Amino acid sequence: MHKFGGHIVIMLVLLLSACAKREEPLYQQQLLTFGTIVEISIWGAEKGLAQQASSQIGEDLQQMHNDWHAWHDSPLVRMNQALSVGASATVPASILPLVQKSIALSRASEGMFNPAIGRLIKLWGFEQDDLPSGPPPDPAAIAALTKQHPGMDDLILDGGRLRSTNPAVQLDFGAIAKGHGVDLAITRLRELGIQNAIINAGGNLRAIGKHGDRPWRIGIRNPRGEGVLASIETRGDESILTSGDYERFYEYQGKRYHHIIDPRSGYPVTGVISVTVIADDAATADAASTALFVAGPQRWREIAKKLGVTQVMLIDGQGRMVVTPAMAKRVRFEVDPSPKVTVAPL
Ligand code: AMP
Ligand code: MG
Repeated sequence: MHKFGGHIVIMLVLLLSACAKREEPLYQQQLLTFGTIVEISIWGAEKGLAQQASSQIGEDLQQMHNDWHAWHDSPLVRMNQALSVGASATVPASILPLVQKSIALSRASEGMFNPAIGRLIKLWGFEQDDLPSGPPPDPAAIAALTKQHPGMDDLILDGGRLRSTNPAVQLDFGAIAKGHGVDLAITRLRELGIQNAIINAGGNLRAIGKHGDRPWRIGIRNPRGEGVLASIETRGDESILTSGDYERFYEYQGKRYHHIIDPRSGYPVTGVISVTVIADDAATADAASTALFVAGPQRWREIAKKLGVTQVMLIDGQGRMVVTPAMAKRVRFEVDPSPKVTVAPL
């Protein structure tokens, strides 16, 4: 899914391999699955168990990738076909939690996180394996889709059946699927008796427990340029996810067109480079990072409050950094000189 997501993974490896030299019981595995690089780090488990857990997670994530894929033949694609002709569809068990969480989070974000805009994402060319190349779509086609206002409120979920009152609705879970997948992977680890771990899907991660007698330390990628911008030490069980305009984009005549679409205008959001959110679960952090990206410098605090998210860092189009007071206490900048950061109460 995200072509440039590997840098933070690399950082994590660097941080941790320094420790591995002291022969601490760290198991690490990188998998190419879920459309990205997934890094599994497990501390303090017997090696055979860690290996078994990581291969199980690899299988789980591949299955989710197949179930939730928005354009390869998948249960989601078949469900979207039914929605587009006004038919009702049985929601496969693997997709139901995504639908339920997405309805709630979309409402709480006032539709900034809106997984019903699959048609717009396809029109922009981000629903395909290769990145699109310009020119951007015809403005009339964008307007035609946008004015149909597809939204999660158009869906009627009755037991396990779903239909849409608006044929323009096409579901694309790209903004929440990684988070939800990481949550399920952590559940799996716990079922297997593992208490200290990180699952990192292309820089979107959830950490549980600790790295021995100290916290896990996570690198946040510099959104412009190489390397790490900042680090965060995790506390117990928490998720850290970033939405960025550098993850999937193309340039045409000097202008960047990226994959996070404002459902109101139908165009890629301008004025934001990245949003990082820390929250308890990765699905919420994932949907929230996308929602706050769309909400932009003017409205992100209001939407964060509605989503119940308190730890946020937003980098605006000029590279200015704004953090909430709760995030200010967590984040340590790793660049010299340390950037000027504004603390904005929610
Ligand atoms: P993320 O990287 O989590 O911000 O998710 C971006 C992905 O979510 C895109 O590649 C699209 O598939 C999808 N998407 C784009 N814009 C939105 C939006 N406003 N609401 C929900 N999903 C979106
Ligand atoms: Mg997201």
